Amino acid sequence: MITFPDGSEVPSLGQGTWHMGDSPATRDEELRAIRTGIDLGLTVIDTAEMYGNGRSEQLVGEAISGRRDDVFLVSKVLPSNASAKATVEACRASLRRLNTDRLDLYLLHWRGRYPLEETVAAFETLVADGSIGAWGVSNLDATDLAELPPGCQTDQVLYNLTRRGPEFDLLPWAEAVRMPVMAYSPVEQGRLVGHTALADVARSLDATPAQVALAWTMRSGSVLSIPKASTAAHVRENAGARDLRLSDADLALLDRAFPPPTRPVALEML
Ligand code: NAP
Repeated sequence: MITFPDGSEVPSLGQGTWHMGDSPATRDEELRAIRTGIDLGLTVIDTAEMYGNGRSEQLVGEAISGRRDDVFLVSKVLPSNASAKATVEACRASLRRLNTDRLDLYLLHWRGRYPLEETVAAFETLVADGSIGAWGVSNLDATDLAELPPGCQTDQVLYNLTRRGPEFDLLPWAEAVRMPVMAYSPVEQGRLVGHTALADVARSLDATPAQVALAWTMRSGSVLSIPKASTAAHVRENAGARDLRLSDADLALLDRAFPPPTRPVALEML
């Protein structure tokens, strides 16, 4: 489990939804995938107004229909909407698409032209009227994070075996203030599963490369991983990552194939 600064506890493996809801041909399978994930306890569901111009939120709204209380719902406001007024309007539109009256967590998708304090003030208005439980950010580096007013619950960043930059400064900073980080694209949008070193470790553990990649992102206990899987089979496989414990020898092997950073690396985005 992961504990946010406000005390909310959520499972450390959730579900991403980018590019889901875009095609009528795959919609039923995607709904099945998300619902299978919820059944298996992958109850943190990450979406954004940006994804498919709201189609991902609509799909999630349908998937969680009748079981809103079983999930921890995360969505994001676009930087272009992050003014005092437009943030509130964007949140209302997201709630309508999601067919719910509240988000559990609302994130600024990345830093744009509006001052962070202005967006945070809007987030606080939304907390006060019950539209969101709490707020956080995404794609902010450690320097940006230090500028934030108190109350931030998480920073959602690109973090996986091939994107280890956050280990140098961002993850230590977040751990010091006891703020969990959300790892997005934890299997590098599928590109990691074909990697030989990962396959070797997976074979020795009787696991799959995707499971090893996910277990690796969650190994510290302070990172929440949100793989996107649009089939129930992938979701079931990913859920198995929670049972995997990587030994020091496994981690050393992975370090050789995917070296940790030795100096600051600018935060990458996808
Ligand atoms: P990802 O989760 O690293 O990878 C998704 C890809 O991996 C899909 O093609 C999926 O295929 C495949 N996959 C998933 N499980 C697999 C398995 N067990 N075996 C083989 N392939 C598997 O990439 P992502 O979607 O970019 O990132 C995850 C989520 O993070 C997003 O969906 C989104 O919610 C969030 N995100 C946030 C930001 C941000 O700026 N805040 C940016 C990017 C992503 P199938 O779909 O066919 O199952």
